[in-house]
Amino acid sequence: MSGLVGVYGHPEAANLVYLGLYALQHRGQMGAGIVASDGQRMPWHRGLGLVSDVFDREIIQQLKGASAIGHNSNSSHELAQNMQPLVFELGEDGLAIAHSGNFTNASELRRQYGEKGAIFQSRTDTEILAHLMAGYRGGIVDQVKHALSVVRGAYSLLFLNRTSMIATRDPHGFRPLVLGRMHEATIVASETCALDLVGAEYVREIEPGEVLVVTKDGLQSFYVVSAHPSTRCIFEYVYFARPDSIVYGRNVYQVRKEFGRQLAREHPVDADIVVPVPDSGVPAALGYAEQSGLPLEFGLVRNHYVWRTLIEPHDAIRHFGAKVKLNAQREVLAGKSVVVVDDSIVRGTTSRKIVTMLRAAGAKAVHMRIGSPPTKCGCYHGNTPNSNELIASNKSTETIRDFIAADSLAYLSELGMYAALKADECSGFCSTCFMQ
Ligand code: 5GP
Ligand code: MG
Repeated sequence: MSGLVGVYGHPEAANLVYLGLYALQHRGQMGAGIVASDGQRMPWHRGLGLVSDVFDREIIQQLKGASAIGHNSNSSHELAQNMQPLVFELGEDGLAIAHSGNFTNASELRRQYGEKGAIFQSRTDTEILAHLMAGYRGGIVDQVKHALSVVRGAYSLLFLNRTSMIATRDPHGFRPLVLGRMHEATIVASETCALDLVGAEYVREIEPGEVLVVTKDGLQSFYVVSAHPSTRCIFEYVYFARPDSIVYGRNVYQVRKEFGRQLAREHPVDADIVVPVPDSGVPAALGYAEQSGLPLEFGLVRNHYVWRTLIEPHDAIRHFGAKVKLNAQREVLAGKSVVVVDDSIVRGTTSRKIVTMLRAAGAKAVHMRIGSPPTKCGCYHGNTPNSNELIASNKSTETIRDFIAADSLAYLSELGMYAALKADECSGFCSTCFMQ
């Protein structure tokens, strides 16, 4: 998961991309980068940290041009050289690439190029695209089409050169990518919340397998690989996307709230209050409260100036992070039987801390309710941690309940999830993370 923004045809392109990246900070906090083009030069800047750490006014002013692409990285390769967009000297027009996702045949392609003597400047899968493009004769559109016919996996991609911007989504549509408009300018982004921030109008999703080419003559759309069954990542609805975004045509907040309603139907509790785990559990908790008729109370308050806990690489730091992030309010919780609602359990360590915290603040009973099915399987496309880190991969719900020390624990069923989406199991979502 990472965040992408591209703008074409606006005098302040880099500034808009910067703002868009700000809106998409939740998709990646490891580093950020922007490349602009004024038709001649392609200035760029990349660095480690949050968007606000990487850029300042002076840097943005140096990124001159009417087009720009940017990237928020969630990479585990913690070096600035692995941050994106990557920039290459390729032919007359140069090339920059920003990539959300990974290629399942990346290591094989890397090995093949390595054997031919190719040198890589990063450890990203993205760089393979540049090699594939450089080895193919033709303009950028043909080069992109060629590269896409070779790579496999889940990706949304932005390409920029001196004359054009190209946006594409993999043929299965694993990752979200949307198209927007701002007067004469075209904007693409991972989520619509980036369009909202800059005042752009949401036009539509980029379709799975679509290659959208933006030049001074307008927009042109191609399909490289014929339609595949679409398998959009369902975890976007559970956790990844911001609630105020429209993802796959639906408002994420409403979807999460519906998950919470369904959860209340499936797993009601005789309790006094519903307490969300902020922020990710809030919409599901609201749905749960509405459906059950129990009052919603903010018994846990979040400090917003702490990074998301799970990106911290070491266990010791993560445990510390959970304490820093949330505080339980005794005035709300004392003597109460509490339904605590979160969107998902990954490792179980945060949930365990939360249950302990609620009890320490006087809660009489703690019933944990989760607005998605157990996350059992590490994502093949690199979205969630490996299976060996997922507590539900080899533990029953009862064992997990015992680990987190809750009085009861229940998850939304997979069928219930589809019911909430008013969809069926074959309606084009990837839900392998819920499979054993
Ligand atoms: P756990 O109890 O598993 O340690 O933590 C649960 C919390 O992790 C939930 O509040 C959920 O929002 C969050 N979470 C779920 N998936 C992810 C993920 O892929 N990355 C990060 N950083 N947090 C996640
Ligand atoms: Mg959370």
